[in-house]
Amino acid sequence: MDSQSQYLKIENLSKDFGNFRALNNISISINNGEFVCFLGPSGCGKTTLLRCIAGLELQSSGKIFQNGALISNLPTSQRDFGIVFQSYALFPNLSCFENIAYGLRNAAWTKADIETRVDSLLDLIGLSDHSKKYPSQLSGGEQQRIALARAIATSPNLLLLDEPLSALDAKVRIHLRQELKNFHRSLGLTSIMVTHDQEEALSIADRIFVMDGGEIMQVGSPEDIYRHPASAFVANFIGMTNFLSGTVVNGKKIKLGTHLFPIDTQGFSKGDQIKVAARPEAVKILTTKTNHSFEGKIVELEFLGSFVRLHISTSLSPKGNLLADLAVFEKPKSNISLGSKVNFTFSPDLLSLF
Ligand code: ATP
Repeated sequence: MDSQSQYLKIENLSKDFGNFRALNNISISINNGEFVCFLGPSGCGKTTLLRCIAGLELQSSGKIFQNGALISNLPTSQRDFGIVFQSYALFPNLSCFENIAYGLRNAAWTKADIETRVDSLLDLIGLSDHSKKYPSQLSGGEQQRIALARAIATSPNLLLLDEPLSALDAKVRIHLRQELKNFHRSLGLTSIMVTHDQEEALSIADRIFVMDGGEIMQVGSPEDIYRHPASAFVANFIGMTNFLSGTVVNGKKIKLGTHLFPIDTQGFSKGDQIKVAARPEAVKILTTKTNHSFEGKIVELEFLGSFVRLHISTSLSPKGNLLADLAVFEKPKSNISLGSKVNFTFSPDLLSLF
């Protein structure tokens, strides 16, 4: 990574709560202007990591550098960031205007400058008409916009977002997700969002840091992580995945069920028992049986808008049905119906071996 563009650098960071290690030796860097997500299951340590960056939690060991300066021992008040929490955390007794102005008053801005700044922020978040309202008079999505405006009011260079969308209903969440991304782009600040929602992370982040058990499991672009998960944990946590059992035959073949299936097995040895992770879109429905095709029976059909998800009962996947996604426009060609037999194979470049 280009060290010039590194904005936040975390070195060997650990955090213990008594005997419990919540973060274990984390070393990461985040580039200037990036939008990254810390993504992982509940309890993996993502909020603790964010809180360490903000100084709301003190690390047990390790260092944090922001823009080249060591900040890990600075009090929160001396760190350069704005933060938005899941629960909007607005002051209920202050109007929207006053909520946004709060940090500016603390920083001793003049009355005129505060008015100009808050008005422009209210305009940016599309809530100019609501400046006199109190938080209880706003919807969840509106409150979260105010919380965002308050977080960026003093023009911090780093925006920390702790599950900012998870309290909102699905439609508002998806809308605000896009808005957040637009804010991020137009303001050009470095943003870190904590989320346990993989779809949210995939849709918003430049890079995702997948965490589990207080450690970073994989770092990459959404596409990278989706297409090339580094472990079965990541493949399982991000997106839908079918797991199949196989055996490595040689450098170019595995045995899958009763068939030999051609795939590059680099990194494995002959005879290795492997897990094959196949995304539903890696399953190719065939119109006719071939020498290398597998067989199954369609036991469920889910219509999901632009595609149909087939649940296929097959000896290849004895523990559960194999899921296969078929573009709606492909369906008429494939003679697909509930209870029918189906022949299928896999796109080798969409499979991962573990
Ligand atoms: P969630 O999505 O559920 O918020 P998370 O990944 O953000 O999970 P953290 O809040 O970072 O998880 O917590 C990581 C682990 O550290 C959890 O097991 C949690 O119980 C523990 N933990 C967090 N804060 C404290 C604390 N103040 N005292 C003791 N244990 C804590």
